[in-house]
Amino acid sequence: MSCEHLICAQCAGPVAEARCPVCRAAKSDLHHHTHGISIPQVVLLLLLALAVAIAVQHLAH
Ligand SMILES: [Zn+2]
Repeated sequence: MSCEHLICAQCAGPVAEARCPVCRAAKSDLHHHTHGISIPQVVLLLLLALAVAIAVQHLAH
């Protein structure tokens, strides 16, 4: 997904040009989602890491 075609509601310019803070926030937010990492996925990964850490501790003792 690209943000090049989106128009900012505040400065009425293309979000891709990042003319105002709203543009920059929208742009970074879009790019954040483009990378495929969302909050639920991060939580899931943290829980998985915690489970692995607990399992390793059980194996070590
Ligand atoms: Zn703007």
